[in-house]
Amino acid sequence: MLEVRGLSVSYGQHRALDGVALDVKRGEIVVILGANGAGKSTALKAISGICEGRVAGSVTMQGEDITALPAHRIVESGIALVPEGRGVFADLTVAENLALGGHPARARDEAAANLDRVLALFPRLIERKRQVVRTMSGGEQQMVAIGRAMMSNPALLTLDEPSLGLSPLLSKELFQNLRRVRDTGIGILLVEQNARASLAIADRGYLLENGHIVHADSADRLRNDPAVQAAYLGGGATAARRPMVAAPVAAALPPQRAAAGPSPADIAAAAMSALPAAPQARPAPAAMVPLAAPPVPQAARPAPPRPAAAPMFGLALDNVVAEAAAASRAGYGTTPPPRSAAPRPAPALPATTASGADRLQTALAEIEQAAAAARACRPAHRRP
Ligand code: ATP
Repeated sequence: MLEVRGLSVSYGQHRALDGVALDVKRGEIVVILGANGAGKSTALKAISGICEGRVAGSVTMQGEDITALPAHRIVESGIALVPEGRGVFADLTVAENLALGGHPARARDEAAANLDRVLALFPRLIERKRQVVRTMSGGEQQMVAIGRAMMSNPALLTLDEPSLGLSPLLSKELFQNLRRVRDTGIGILLVEQNARASLAIADRGYLLENGHIVHADSADRLRNDPAVQAAYLGGGATAARRPMVAAPVAAALPPQRAAAGPSPADIAAAAMSALPAAPQARPAPAAMVPLAAPPVPQAARPAPPRPAAAPMFGLALDNVVAEAAAASRAGYGTTPPPRSAAPRPAPALPATTASGADRLQTALAEIEQAAAAARACRPAHRRP
């Protein structure tokens, strides 16, 4: 189904992938394992047509050469990517995210069947269809991300580190779900740092080191390979017969990334200046809406009117697309920040138009006040 041959990617002078060849067949889970910086994400991005680097080689999907095609044409060829960090529209609802996933032409005639398939896999999304994605747990957001990708009716699902940031329990659920996706006949190409869990569900695997495929085998044999155990599964280090950890590539750093980066103060200043000047600029997410409840008023969102209890595909797709595009232009991340343990919805920003620096000062003052209060509460015998 997917055939990759001689795939090479360079970022400036830095060769991130070098002559990679791999295959994925229908209904097969294939995992790419590799150390940080080995080139795993680059491989997925190059296959999906969203790589920032210079790409050479050939990618063929179901007999069609898709090497030089733009990303949306690659989706039409049957490849869907769940990028690292999920790539969901955090300020849209579950239903809207799924509707967006069904936008490609190849999916439109089969939208209802695709939706049934997604909801059969992830029944929790039925009751959450009107929940704003930002307010969901990491595992639930991952279900939305996979569901959105599956709405494009893919023959191949590619996933970049889908278990990143998930608890062990949610990771287990995720890998079980991927197995169920595979059982529907979809091929899966998976990049994972969780070698143990991914080899447990995979049919085959590739080891990627410094941009080269150094080994390929069945998942069973990889799991029992002493070198793989040593490098990826926490086994005895002495057993390694191949160097598994990406060695630093001397004098080949990509020019886009400066050797001496900005100082933490520069980064903090840039982050503060990127904050919206006023709280209205980035609306707080709406709380979860129970299925039967009336819609939450979302005055702050410049969105077209949303049908209250419309069926999932009663959504006007054009409006949803326009809203997603507007959200992207306004700078709302498509990837939500990690959800804190604080009660949802997230607290609104202070109702002032203070600058980023002022808000930082306010936050520091509050921390100092809290520290003083804590000191005052200390039991007398522990005071110095
Ligand atoms: P990780 O597991 O840490 O995500 P990875 O195996 O996915 O790593 P890639 O993200 O593919 O690795 O990166 C491979 C190499 O290419 C790294 O050295 C990285 O710094 C470099 N690289 C990736 N993207 C870019 C970019 N846009 N510009 C310059 N260099 C890049």
